Parts: sequence; C-alpha cells; structure tokens
Amino acid sequence: MTVSLPEHETPMADTSVPEAVLENASGDRSIGMHLVHWFCRNQRPLPWRRDYDPYAVWISEIMLQQTQMAKVVPYFQRWMACLPDVRAVAEASMDELLRLWEGLGYYSRVRHVKKAAEMILARHGGRIPSDEKILRTLPGIGEYTAAAIASVAFCRDVPVLDGNGERVAARLLDWEKPVDEARTKKALRQALAQWMPPGRAREFNQAVMELGSVVCTPRRPSCDACPVASWCRARAAGTVLDRPVKARRGTAEEVTVAVGVLHRHEKIFIQKRPPQGPMGSLWEFPGGKLENGETPEEALRRELFEELGVTVAVVGKVAEIRHAVTRFRIRLHAFHCDLDPPWQELKLRSAVDALWVSPEDLDRYAFPSANRRLIRILQKNRGDAV
Ligand code: SF4
Repeated sequence: MTVSLPEHETPMADTSVPEAVLENASGDRSIGMHLVHWFCRNQRPLPWRRDYDPYAVWISEIMLQQTQMAKVVPYFQRWMACLPDVRAVAEASMDELLRLWEGLGYYSRVRHVKKAAEMILARHGGRIPSDEKILRTLPGIGEYTAAAIASVAFCRDVPVLDGNGERVAARLLDWEKPVDEARTKKALRQALAQWMPPGRAREFNQAVMELGSVVCTPRRPSCDACPVASWCRARAAGTVLDRPVKARRGTAEEVTVAVGVLHRHEKIFIQKRPPQGPMGSLWEFPGGKLENGETPEEALRRELFEELGVTVAVVGKVAEIRHAVTRFRIRLHAFHCDLDPPWQELKLRSAVDALWVSPEDLDRYAFPSANRRLIRILQKNRGDAV
C-alpha cells in the first residue's frame, strides 16, 4: 500500500524570551519545592521509576512520545524483558524490534532507537550519555527528550517542557499567547527553570508532567487538589479553561484506500515497505489511495498493476476499517482477490520484500495498526468458517 503519511519531527526555532516572563514567573522557588514534595507523595509507580536506570528512562521517553502512558506500560515491560540493555537493542534484528513496537505507531521511533543503540555501543561504550548536547547527537533524541533523559536519569538541572508542562506553566502564568509559538515555549521553559529547585530536576520535571496528567487536566482540572493553586494566575483570573491558548489547526484530512488480500494455494501475499519513510520496514497488504472518481475495486486493480505488475479479479469484500493517524482520517476498504490469469509472476515495484504466508502465520510479522485489524477480521472469519 503506497499511502504516505508524515511522522512527527518538529524543529524549534530560537527566539528571545519576553521580559514579562521574568516578572510573571513568581520568582521564588517555593512553588518548585511544593511540586517536588507533592510528587514524592503522589507519584504513580511506573516501571522506569524503580531505579531510574538511564537505558530504561531512554526507552520510556521514546515510547511516551505521542503515546499515552497507559498504553506504553505493557509495551515497555515486554521490551525490557526481551531487550534488557543497549547491546541487546543494537544486536536485535529490525524485524524483532518492529514486532515489539507494533501497535505503538510512529515507527520512525524504533528505527531511531536501533541506530542510537548502535552509536551508543560504538562511541560511548554502551553507556547512555548524561550530557544534553551529546544526547541530541543521537537519532530520535530532540530537545525535549534530551532534557528529559538528562534530568530524570542523571539529575541534571534542565527543565523539560512537554504538552502537560505547557498546560501547567501556561495556567500558572495565565499566559495569553499560543503555546505553539517558539517564543512562548522558550518563555515557559525559562519560567520552569526559575521554579526548579537546584539538584531536584528529576522530581521537579516529573512533578510538572504528572500534575498536568492527573490534576491540571485539559478540560476538568482539579484545582481544589492542586498543590500550587495559590500561585495560579489563571485560577485567580478565572481563565483556567482558556489556557493554554492554541493556534488554530486545519481539520483532519480524509483519505480512502483500497487493499487486496491476494490468495494463492491457501496463502496470502504480504509485502514489506522500504525502510525510509512512514511505517518503514513494516509489512502490509498491497493497495493504495483512491484517485478521483475511482471505486475502491477500480483503485485496487490499478494499484496492484502499478505495484506488482499483475491483473487481479476482485472476488469479495473483507471489511471496511476506519482509522485515524496523525492528521489523517483513513477509510480502508479490503477485498479478497485472485491473480487473473493465475500464472502471473509478481514484480516488486515499491516494496523491498514479499512473502506468501498462511493466515495463522501473519502474527509473526509487524504490520501497521489498520492492517493488523484487518488480520484479526481475516482470522475471525476463518475461525467462524471452520
Ligand atoms: Fe492547574 Fe488549577 Fe493547579 Fe492552576 S490551580 S495549576 S489550573 S490545577
């Protein structure tokens, strides 16, 4: 399937800090100590918080990018059970890593983890660097993740600003400008740096993120239970639900695709995406986007001819699956199909590998989420038919 969906990498521009933030930041550090004490009493028992091993902190931070905590925990535990250290990641096959990552999405993350593990082994003797600048030279580690690893794993005094931190800081300051602006991010980061008690970056940064996650939530913040409510300017001004201010975003784009479950001798055809680009190195069913005026069946026949150089007969619908990825809403039509005529040879024009596999063996390969849902439907239909 040749649908291209971008994955996140957002470079941040550097701008000057507005003077006002220094006055607004409620100068003294008692706000920071209140947050630290609150965190020490109320933190959730997460597996990477047991001993703050730098390898565990790194993997948890990468998994938590764009992904909810509750979803990450079982993936993290499975990963650590299979790959206990940097060397294990560097020496694992990409297929093994993708299988452990399957369902978390944003698959460029796992490719970066592998490359970074190889670099850590080659350049740093297998030890995760503690310096923010060195961390940023590793694939997949940007400004936020480097600060998170440096502070949480190594107690370096650097502030961390994620979505939860943005909300907490913007409310504490009653910040009126959009948090999407680089100027605002820099100002909020500077306020956090002012509040951070020296030597307590590990607890302070996690306290801010934890407060945003469980108390200072987007729509129903529990201000009465907030340890820093008396400092909160948005609460005093009655503007809590108006903060943070967000820049207007475009609406999600609808994408309709058709994929083929191509059968031969009780087996199903799957192909592997190239390593570059979205969902790289994952397996998939062949197919692609509908073009103007096409029916899903017409698009499928065209795509299979373009991708594999074959003509097919569409013999029945399997399912219609709706799925959201980043700013796209995807409607996926899946069809059973046969080669027509049956003796044609398949030529890979966009994929880098291909296999004919039995339906029960599909679980051995890593697929994007919508394809995995399709596999569950195929397996269920097969079970129902037996
Ligand atoms: Fe958030 Fe309310 Fe606490 Fe202010 S008082 S930081 S709005 S939870």
